[in-house]
Amino acid sequence: MLDFANKVVIVTGGTRGIGLEIVRAFCERKAQVILFGSKLDTVKEAVLKLSAEGKMVCGYYPNLSNFEEVANTIKDIYNKYGRIDILINNAGISASKKIEDTDITEFEKIMDLNVKAIFNTSKAVVPYMKQQHTGVILNTSSMVSIYGQPSGASYPASKCAVNGLTKSLARELAPFNIRVNAIAPGIINTDMVSSLPKEMIEPLVKKIPLGRIGEPRDVANAFLFLASDMASYITGAILQVDGAATN
Ligand code: NAD
Repeated sequence: MLDFANKVVIVTGGTRGIGLEIVRAFCERKAQVILFGSKLDTVKEAVLKLSAEGKMVCGYYPNLSNFEEVANTIKDIYNKYGRIDILINNAGISASKKIEDTDITEFEKIMDLNVKAIFNTSKAVVPYMKQQHTGVILNTSSMVSIYGQPSGASYPASKCAVNGLTKSLARELAPFNIRVNAIAPGIINTDMVSSLPKEMIEPLVKKIPLGRIGEPRDVANAFLFLASDMASYITGAILQVDGAATN
């Protein structure tokens, strides 16, 4: 079993869905996990839920698209725990509207969370990871970064940018023993998918070669692997976790 004892792990978007399951998976393997959410009440709710399961985590809710707020939060965490080993950029929002119906502010909102937030958190943790001469940054991409999708173009556009950040930061940070990878989930059973039109999702699930929708734990397990020393020679990879789905 993978063991993350004494490792400090930050998970953005850790209050529900895939992120909450990532938090659980790292807690079960003895990591000190710090979760980020979008607001106080959802962070409190997640911390309490995890505590009832015997998992002790700490929560923050910085505005991820504001670098100063992110940097201050990361500094606070570093001062409290003395290190930052693993950053998991999981927070994200999706889009499904046709381009004529998409306002530019909706496009910017997607880019702010799905792309700018990853830039901000990565920029904030890198000085500490360089000082430690070790670190892992993992980003959540999507299978739509490879295939696109028939509407909601801002979402795949943002996830293509995630892949670009991942591959470039992997090369930039490799000399400092910092690995950077991304996971591209397929269709995963979370609020994000249940909020999309049924007509859009059902036919896609039917076509998945592994014969089922993905569960958050399927994705969390891949994060565990890429964060671990088992993946010590893997950097710059975009790992598809999608049951061989296409869309
Ligand atoms: P979800 O909607 O269940 O959870 C999203 C998470 O992001 C929540 O924890 C929420 O707190 C956080 N978040 C949302 N808006 C935020 C904001 N403004 N500031 C800070 N945090 C915010 O979604 P999910 O399905 O668990 O998705 C998690 C990640 O996986 C996302 O990056 C998503 O793009 C990606 N993904 C999901 C699927 C899927 O099928 N569910 C597929 C591919 C990729």
